Amino acid sequence: MMDSIYPWFNDAWIAIHGNEKLPHALIFRGKEGIGKYNFAIKFAKSYLCQKPLSNYLPCESCSSCKWFPDSHPDFKLVAPIENEDDEPSKRKTVRKKNILINQIRELSEYLELSAHQEKGRRVVLIEPADSLNQAASNALLKILEEPPENTLFILVTSQAQKLIATIRSRCQLLDLRSPSLDEARSFLVDQKIAYEDSLLSYTGGSPFNAIKELENQTEREIITQLLSQGHNIDITKVNYSMLTQGLDWTLNMIQKWIFDLLLSFHAQQNYYFKNEEKRIHSLAKQINLDALLLYTNELNELKKIASHPVNQELQLQNIFIKYKQIFETL
Ligand SMILES: [Zn+2]
Repeated sequence: MMDSIYPWFNDAWIAIHGNEKLPHALIFRGKEGIGKYNFAIKFAKSYLCQKPLSNYLPCESCSSCKWFPDSHPDFKLVAPIENEDDEPSKRKTVRKKNILINQIRELSEYLELSAHQEKGRRVVLIEPADSLNQAASNALLKILEEPPENTLFILVTSQAQKLIATIRSRCQLLDLRSPSLDEARSFLVDQKIAYEDSLLSYTGGSPFNAIKELENQTEREIITQLLSQGHNIDITKVNYSMLTQGLDWTLNMIQKWIFDLLLSFHAQQNYYFKNEEKRIHSLAKQINLDALLLYTNELNELKKIASHPVNQELQLQNIFIKYKQIFETL
């Protein structure tokens, strides 16, 4: 957890503490991978702290701070429950994970029970709130319609539009801004993260996604190498080793590559692969635009089924065979 507030959240930190009377429910909204969850945790901790510091940071020494978060009786985190992956292979399959109605029922019971214990503050943190399924959303709405006393609900999301409107209307929105490129870069340098520039451009400027992507560096290099061969790709080189992160991840990477190809085609600067600009630029000259647009649609379609773990290798080969076809043969 962070010791201080990330610089890009400083204003939000001050704003939220300057709030004379907090509403009973807040939505923390901001782009993915900028540290919203850590911010929310920090805020919950300081909100529950018995002697917060003058900059509103938690004291770290009161009993509340010591209990927080795992053994704090007045703090409840509601998040999707991770299922053990039953795939025998090591490959990751990305499954959509939801917050289920049972979890909200449990929350409701918790709120009823602990309300009798004391009159102190309580915090319920829901993250990511956009993973509430329909039934869970409706159940949560019921709680928010008659909120228990002294309880603050914090919903964290990068996709507020996915929350049902009736929940949104009961919460006050706090926008959390993204770090500037400089802020993100110096954050990564402080964390001693290598490749900070290429990782940041690859993740669209998100420092926490950049940290996650670091472990995929080798894979990204292999795939980049392959993609940069354009029409001359040797399909027999396409294999399992490109699927250790799951087809979803690989597809996402190819989509970013195609996005940059298209930018280059229109004489614009690369967005995701700044280090490969030269290579992409020369590839862009060989593009058949119709074929490329068709390919973009096909990738979108494939994305919808990419989390099903059937025939991933076959699908990947197919993707590369079609990729070859977006280039004019000279
Ligand atoms: Zn404290």
